[in-house]
Amino acid sequence: MFNIVVVDSWRDFPTDDPTIKHHAVSGYYDEETDTAYYVKDTPRWVGFHEEKHAIEKHKDRPRNAIDSVRNEIEACLYSYEMAGGPRRLLRILISIYNDLTFRDYNVPPKRAIEMIRQVMFDENDVPEKWKEDYFELRKRISKW
Ligand SMILES: [Zn+2]
Repeated sequence: MFNIVVVDSWRDFPTDDPTIKHHAVSGYYDEETDTAYYVKDTPRWVGFHEEKHAIEKHKDRPRNAIDSVRNEIEACLYSYEMAGGPRRLLRILISIYNDLTFRDYNVPPKRAIEMIRQVMFDENDVPEKWKEDYFELRKRISKW
């Protein structure tokens, strides 16, 4: 049964895996116990973001890299609908990009940015501000 637990800090997430703190938004969903954790005083949308991962039974690391992008964008769209956030997506996009290219997968940078584009622009209709953030991400990556 799905539970939500509010914790004081991301250090209280019940995992030793540093990649789990991937969103930099203070939420963590534990598959085994079907429990979403989030840090107190974080915006309300963070809880909905984790709730969507829980509802859809998203895996932490799906076999196909692009599915991890789909899961994150899906959770963000849900929380946006339910609680109006995140209003900007840049931090989350950076963490998705990092997961794709060096943390969880070894996707080449160009392929990673294309996967994000595909999910955001071809498969979903995302808010205009998020599109701006996608272009900002692309600009930054070209300088890295
Ligand atoms: Zn997420």
